[in-house]
Amino acid sequence: QEFGEISIKDIDQVAKTSFPLCMRHLFEKVKEDHHLKHGGRMQLGLFLKTMAWCSCLMGVGLKLDDALAFWKAEFAPKVSAERFDKEYAYNIRHNYGREGKRTDYTPYSCQKIISVTPGIGDHHGCPYRHFSEENLRAALVRMGVSSRAVEDVMDKVHNRHYQLACTLTFEAVHGSSCDAGINHPNQYFIDSQRVLQS
Ligand code: SF4
Repeated sequence: QEFGEISIKDIDQVAKTSFPLCMRHLFEKVKEDHHLKHGGRMQLGLFLKTMAWCSCLMGVGLKLDDALAFWKAEFAPKVSAERFDKEYAYNIRHNYGREGKRTDYTPYSCQKIISVTPGIGDHHGCPYRHFSEENLRAALVRMGVSSRAVEDVMDKVHNRHYQLACTLTFEAVHGSSCDAGINHPNQYFIDSQRVLQS
């Protein structure tokens, strides 16, 4: 297994240790609700897929077959296998460039995620921008951020510096600096894996 490639059995573990809050939230929601609306499936699905889209920044690396198995298993309590194949599998293959125009879709950057407007029942977007203060504080505590660091993060949020808030979170949970700052969820993941594996 190459660096940057993960298999389905590792995903629960790496979600806890190395996903940024936006992806962690979507991951927890799909586990809890056994469903995600389109915006969430796109944001998480593209993050998860295998893709080396620049030499230094790779997708997290779930191969298409694993991605299909992951979504099918998570949706299973609510969506039959037949319905999944009919209604959802096409979109997942599409994200991997295997359907339609065969474009290999790029995972979303922070800027793109921060700029969306999630509707009711949506779980995509950037928690630093889109969560209520109460929910964000609770999520940070669940990630293991100390109360002092939570105040520093909230200070950035109040000043609308969402990516800096995410960078401070990274530093608080990894005990390691992130000088470049966070500008992409996949960069957060790769940097986290580097710290944890060093
Ligand atoms: Fe995700 Fe970027 Fe927001 Fe961090 S700043 S939670 S990586 S969108």
